[in-house]
Amino acid sequence: MNIAIDFGGTNIKIGLIDEGRVTVKASIPAYSEQGLAARLPEVEQTVEELLRENGLSLPACRGVGLALPGIVDADNRALLSINDKYPDGIGFDFRRWVENAFALPFVMENDARAALLGEAAYGVARGTKDSVLMMFGTGIGTAAIMNGAIVRGRHYQAGILGGHLATDIHGEKCACGNVGCMEAQASHWALGIRASRMPGFSDSPLANRPGALGYEEVIAAGEQGEDWARRLVDSLLEHWSAGIVNLIHAYDPEVVVLSGGLMKSADRVLPRVIERTLASAWTPWGAPRFAVAKDPETSVLLGLSHLADSNDPHRKG
Ligand SMILES: [Zn+2]
Repeated sequence: MNIAIDFGGTNIKIGLIDEGRVTVKASIPAYSEQGLAARLPEVEQTVEELLRENGLSLPACRGVGLALPGIVDADNRALLSINDKYPDGIGFDFRRWVENAFALPFVMENDARAALLGEAAYGVARGTKDSVLMMFGTGIGTAAIMNGAIVRGRHYQAGILGGHLATDIHGEKCACGNVGCMEAQASHWALGIRASRMPGFSDSPLANRPGALGYEEVIAAGEQGEDWARRLVDSLLEHWSAGIVNLIHAYDPEVVVLSGGLMKSADRVLPRVIERTLASAWTPWGAPRFAVAKDPETSVLLGLSHLADSNDPHRKG
């Protein structure tokens, strides 16, 4: 049994994983802008409850896996950089926390990498050696596996910054410092900014209600004949497709895994994204397969457990 903890921007997902299956899981609010340390007592308590409810104890567990939505040094198990979430996570001593709270070996990884590891070990990318993932959360996370190995790079940022490859060099300013990143053009957090730039949006019912815009309601507004929404969705599709083409050109995958909240609208957006991507990508050998992650929340937890069970000596103890 492994303990997997996914520190998301909105929720912290906690699971007990064994043999590639989630035995039980729980979700608690992240309040991530308030910091990491403040949330750890409730994380520990939730793990304790899950174990107790299932008749288990810490000594029965093999290890712990932690995922964070930032640049993670998987060897030294440190958070190197993160945007707007868990500001105290940089420099935080995860080793000491895990030792005090659980006294188990542990691994730590970027959340999108963990998700792709989960999909490759147990999910829709199983049986492949070369895959990429694009995960539509608040931002857009990506990851790549090449020749069976997760791509990390010299400074642990390879593969995961696909959302920050520009799809419009004259586009929106991104939180990362770059301009026109796919994430700044077509992520969930960018949706309101993009909508506010569309002529006609201010007359829409969606402009005059509180709360952040969602993909589903923008797609629905477009289908109901709101012109701004139809044009915005067309633009989003262009950016997502350009982003996937960038990943295909960079990592040469045989499967492209798509994951996250946008996939609730997969039947509406996916055919158009695939058509546009394949029309633009240079793949003389054929075409990658596209696969939708069945349960995005679970794939991160499964990937962490898989990583915890891997035999890499640098990521243990
Ligand atoms: Zn960016």
